[in-house]
Amino acid sequence: MLIAHLPSGYVVGALGQRACPSVRGVLAAALVGSVLPDVDMLWFHLADGGRTHHHAFVTHWPLFWAAVSAVLIAATSAFRPRWRPAAMAFAAAVLLHMALDSVAAPMTWLAPFSDATVELARVPAIHPNWIVSFLLHWTFLIELAICAVAAALWLARRRQPTP
Ligand SMILES: [Zn+2]
Repeated sequence: MLIAHLPSGYVVGALGQRACPSVRGVLAAALVGSVLPDVDMLWFHLADGGRTHHHAFVTHWPLFWAAVSAVLIAATSAFRPRWRPAAMAFAAAVLLHMALDSVAAPMTWLAPFSDATVELARVPAIHPNWIVSFLLHWTFLIELAICAVAAALWLARRRQPTP
């Protein structure tokens, strides 16, 4: 996924904020959750030298984020209930990141227990620049659709009268 992670977080956060209008931090938590797994790109470029696909790192293990999300939701439920909607928005956004990465790249959904990968479609490297191959593949339409939904939600929120 090239461009739709942050917009997908906006969709999750805007819908969560609509469901819980009096709770603060829902949109911010969703935005953070939507991009946090890709922080491993720093390691990929600065330490790993690009030898390992960043989807192999723990930050792209769905079970890792499921466990983190479960702990976050349980902890906020027990100790800070007013933060629970934000924790849930974070969990939804970070797990959506995992699902969206599975569209056009291999993801190890059961890591560390299995190396089996799941991907909806394999993008063939038919252009010298891998980014062009992704941009011209049908899966990029999914990214554009997510961006369009996010833009529509953003416009609809702007048009709402402020209380
Ligand atoms: Zn990712």
